[in-house]
Amino acid sequence: SEDRVFNFAAGPAILPANVLKKAQAELYNWRGSGMSVMEMSHRGKEFLSIIQKAEADLRALLNIPEDYAVLFLQGGATTQFAMIPLNLCKPDDPVDFVVTGSWGDKAFKESQKFCKPKVIWSGKSEKYTKIPSFDALEQSPDAKYLHICANETIHGVEFKDYPTPKNGILVADMSSNFCSKPVDVSKFGLIYAGAQKNVGPSGVTIVIIKKDLIGNAQETTPVMLDYKIHAENNSLYNTPPCFGIYMCGLVFEDLLAQGGLTEIERKNKKKAELLYSAIDKSNGFYRCPVEKSARSLMNVPFTLEKSDLEAEFIKEAAKEKLVQLKGHRSVGGMRASIYNAMPLAGVEKLVAFMKNFQARHA
Ligand code: PMP
Repeated sequence: SEDRVFNFAAGPAILPANVLKKAQAELYNWRGSGMSVMEMSHRGKEFLSIIQKAEADLRALLNIPEDYAVLFLQGGATTQFAMIPLNLCKPDDPVDFVVTGSWGDKAFKESQKFCKPKVIWSGKSEKYTKIPSFDALEQSPDAKYLHICANETIHGVEFKDYPTPKNGILVADMSSNFCSKPVDVSKFGLIYAGAQKNVGPSGVTIVIIKKDLIGNAQETTPVMLDYKIHAENNSLYNTPPCFGIYMCGLVFEDLLAQGGLTEIERKNKKKAELLYSAIDKSNGFYRCPVEKSARSLMNVPFTLEKSDLEAEFIKEAAKEKLVQLKGHRSVGGMRASIYNAMPLAGVEKLVAFMKNFQARHA
């Protein structure tokens, strides 16, 4: 409606309007329970029905096989940077990282405390604008896993197909492209994602893990960082982020109602193509540094040829209710995050603004 902006933030990010309205309608008295979801016991039948439905709907969306556990955790994706090696490795175990941006680099650095990771490819010298061809890479012979960041939120670099590691399992940070397209979960040992980009508010971290990987945590692992504890207790070992899980559940319902992830991917491709083609057809006025084959459907970074106009671009865009377009402080320029919930109309309005801005400033 008129008082809402088009929010291009990278996360926390835009949520579907109908989901927000549904949450608003249910806020004061959830389905006749006489209380808000925020006030419910996490062990009561009402909340149990909420978390079970959220899990069932996520399983349906991603077609998650039975031999995978779904966990709703806290601590953000950042906590997973430590939790994964703590659970999947002994301190001397080798692990491989393909680093295609800052988040993969952060995950690598944190894992150094708990195992012996090695970067087998890094895009850093090319300013993180590429995805390597995996077949040419040499993996460590006894690597426990290969870690990738499926979509680098800051650099806008996204894997289009997933490598099959020769040794160990594939582990992926899907924080910023979770539920944006169908994924063959059986190719992965573990998938993790913070909710606050595509599927809900911050405070919920989703882990999808093959069950036979659970139960091998290092001895000093705190209970809260042990997948076994959470899996055995169906994510209810301690008080979970109840309201956040409820919101994720509403988003999953909405994604299913839209026709599931094949349909979501189709919409996301349409939006991304519109924006990238506006950039590419601007005669160099706008530029996207990312190699075409690796361009993210979710986060679109771009710069202005006349970089001194960038602040003006962001200011004028905000006046048009196109907000949060500033690039990450580490890379500068602009970034439009166009997650599932960004309507086509938002991207159309941004593209029209870009053309108008160019006409006035070229
Ligand atoms: N991985 C990726 C790809 C991210 O985009 C982010 C957050 N922007 C993180 C990890 C860190 O997530 P959190 O803030 O939930 O710890």
